Amino acid sequence: MTAFWTEPDFDDHELVQLVRDHESGLTAIIAVHSSHLGPGAGGTRFWHYAEPKDAMRDALRLSRGMSYKNAMAGLPMGGGKAVILADADKTKSDGLLDAFGDAVDALGGKYVTAEDVGISEADMVRVSQRTAHVSGLPVDGEDAAGGDPGPFTAMGIYHGIKAAVQHKLKRDTLEGVHIALQGAGSVGSGVARLAAKEGARMTIADIDAGRAEQLAEELGGEAVSADAVQGIACDVFSPNALGAILDDEGIARLDCAIVAGGANNQLARAHHGEQVAARGILYAPDYVINAGGIISVTLEYLCRTKGNPCDINEVRKRIAQIPGRLEQIWQESDRTGVSPDQVSDRMAQKLIGR
Ligand code: NAD
Repeated sequence: MTAFWTEPDFDDHELVQLVRDHESGLTAIIAVHSSHLGPGAGGTRFWHYAEPKDAMRDALRLSRGMSYKNAMAGLPMGGGKAVILADADKTKSDGLLDAFGDAVDALGGKYVTAEDVGISEADMVRVSQRTAHVSGLPVDGEDAAGGDPGPFTAMGIYHGIKAAVQHKLKRDTLEGVHIALQGAGSVGSGVARLAAKEGARMTIADIDAGRAEQLAEELGGEAVSADAVQGIACDVFSPNALGAILDDEGIARLDCAIVAGGANNQLARAHHGEQVAARGILYAPDYVINAGGIISVTLEYLCRTKGNPCDINEVRKRIAQIPGRLEQIWQESDRTGVSPDQVSDRMAQKLIGR
């Protein structure tokens, strides 16, 4: 691994720690980008990386992204992320999770972990036996913050799409608005159900074609192939699957007025935000519109550790602020000609004192 501070994605991260545990075979990187607003919070990714430098890049980029996301969501948390470097078979053991929990605990609360790709709720419960610095744990009852973040993320995206439709198309409801949705998983299916309930016309795609067809049938929409969805003529293209879909080719294919969805890191490179804007398409910055889940799991954590309010209404109240934040970004973008992603990055940087 090269010195991490020479990596292009190093952005004055406050802490980058390599963790090794010989007994369990754990190799992990914990990165805290900023603790300006609170402890560095963000999930743990369990992934097999071709090269250690890819793991470092993920840890650096994702932890910075969490700084921006938490700041823009108005949460008293900084940005952090952990990656566990899995072997090719992605072998996971209790010993490995215990060693990871010990490493998180040793940081004394500078980093608060949660689930991310490859880490389940059950894994986090195991980690929580070694450290209290864990969010996203299961909760009792439907009236508490926390638990599966997917439905909360979907709720925020639904409100964000409505705000985008109002800003760009001057329409007050989603009645008759055509949404092409990529990814019918936890987040995408939640967005689709909420939008369809309001009368949106849904076109749905997933690499699991059966999943898309089932959801389309439930909602009276249409299923299309995963290859086709990004080029469908529609009002809103809503990406809820992969990142990096907005590259040169992906942007050229768009035939929509708005891009608004939950996938993380939708812009392949920083300059792609300008390309989307240059095509006259309104973009909802991903880390602003998809913050519903982090709002829920963070309130659960603050409730458990600090006695803060943790009822569901507090989560809903904060998620309802997402459209206002997006509107502020778009107005600033309209006024200055700077693309929404860059306006948002600057707002976030200011909030974290950078
Ligand atoms: P998920 O695994 O439940 O669903 C993802 C879906 O996308 C799956 O159905 C999968 O088959 C489909 N998919 C994968 N590649 C595809 C492709 N090329 N074309 C069409 N469909 C494809 O995941 P999720 O929790 O719904 O997360 C979706 C996205 O939202 C991810 O980018 C995730 O990082 C982001 N996100 C999720 C949350 C959350 O609370 N779950 C929060 C913030 C951001």
